[in-house]
Amino acid sequence: MAGEALPGSFAVSATDGAARAGLLSTVHGDVPTPAFMPVGTKGTVKGIHPDELRSLGAAIVLGNTYHLHLRPGADVVAELGGLHAFMGWDGAILTDSGGFQVFSLRDTLLAVDDDGVTFASVYDGAPARLTPELAAQIQAQLGSDIAMCLDICPPAGAPRAELAEAVRRTTLWAGRQGAAPRAPGQLLFGIAQGAADRELRHRSIEELVELDLDGYALGGLAVGESRAEMFEATGWAAPLLPAGRPRYFMGIGDPEGILEVISSGVDVFDCVLPTRLGRTGSALTWSGRLNLRNARFARDSRPLDDGCACPACERFSRAYLRHLVNQQELLGHRLLSLHNLHFVLELTAGARAAIEQGKLASFKQEALERLAGPEETACNF
Ligand SMILES: [Zn+2]
Repeated sequence: MAGEALPGSFAVSATDGAARAGLLSTVHGDVPTPAFMPVGTKGTVKGIHPDELRSLGAAIVLGNTYHLHLRPGADVVAELGGLHAFMGWDGAILTDSGGFQVFSLRDTLLAVDDDGVTFASVYDGAPARLTPELAAQIQAQLGSDIAMCLDICPPAGAPRAELAEAVRRTTLWAGRQGAAPRAPGQLLFGIAQGAADRELRHRSIEELVELDLDGYALGGLAVGESRAEMFEATGWAAPLLPAGRPRYFMGIGDPEGILEVISSGVDVFDCVLPTRLGRTGSALTWSGRLNLRNARFARDSRPLDDGCACPACERFSRAYLRHLVNQQELLGHRLLSLHNLHFVLELTAGARAAIEQGKLASFKQEALERLAGPEETACNF
C-alpha cells in the first residue's frame, strides 16, 4: 500500500511543541505513537485475554526477559514458536533486557563487572548471570519485535561515580549487544543512563547514538527520585535523543505522568500500574482515583466513569464492583484492570489526537483539572 511504513521504520507525522505523533512499524504491525504498552511480565498482562487487549486498543505489549528467562526459559518459549505464539498475541512485543529487575532487586545483586552481572534468581536463589550477549540471545529466542539493551540502572541518589560507571558500562554493553545476532526484523533500542546529571546523561546519549540503534530509552528515571526532578530531567533529556527515532520512557503509567512525558517528546512508555491497581481494588477515573473498598460506594449505582465504553462501565455499577473486590472475586480484579487499561489507552489516544490538532497544551490542562485526587505513582515490576 502506498505510504505504508516498512517494518522497523519510525515516522513522526505531527508535532506540537516538543510532543510528537508518529507511527512505529514492526514485524507484528504498526504502533501509533504516543503509545502505552501494557506490561505482560510473565507472558501475560495479568488477568487479561489477548483479544481483550486488542479490543482495548493496545498495539504493543511488554514482556520481561528476566522472568521469562528464568520461568519457563527462553528455550521453551522458542521451541513453542516464540513469545507471540506462546502467549497468543499477534501484535507487537517489546522485551526488556532483564537489567532493570537485576538492578532493582538489589538484595539479589551479587557482582557486576565489565563482562556482565551475577545475581540470585528470585525464584530459587540460584546464582544466574546476565551478559549483553545473553540478553541478546534470550530476546532473539523470545522473538520480540523490539529488544532492549542490557543496561545498568543505579538507584536514585547513587553517587556520581556510580552513575558515571553505569554510563560507561551501559555503552560498552550496548556495543556488544548491537553486534550479537537478533531475531528476523527485531529492532534494538539502547537505554541512556545518567540519572538527572546533565553531563552524564548527555554523555550517555551521545555514546549510544554513535551506535546507531533503532530507538532510545530514558532509563534510570522513575527509580525513586522526586516526581518534579523526574519530569524536569525528562523535559531536557528527551529532546537530546535523535528526532527520527522512537523515544521510550521506562516505567510511567499514571495519567499525570503520561501527559508530562508525552509533552516532553516521549513516544512510548509502559507501566504495571493499571493492572496492579485493578488487582488491589482501585480505578483510574476522570473523577480521580477510586478505591472501591470505600464504604461510600456500597450503594453507588453509577459506572466507574460516565461515558466510559469499557467492559466494566458498560454493564456494572460501582456498588457491584465494590462487592466483587471486597469478596476477592476474580471478576472484580479483571473488570477493574480492563477499565484501567482502557482509561490509560484512551488518554494516550486522546493525547495523540490533540497533538495532531496542535492542541496538546489545552488537552493536558483540561485533563489535569479533571483528574483530582491523590495519585499513587510507584511503577515497579
Ligand atoms: Zn470503564
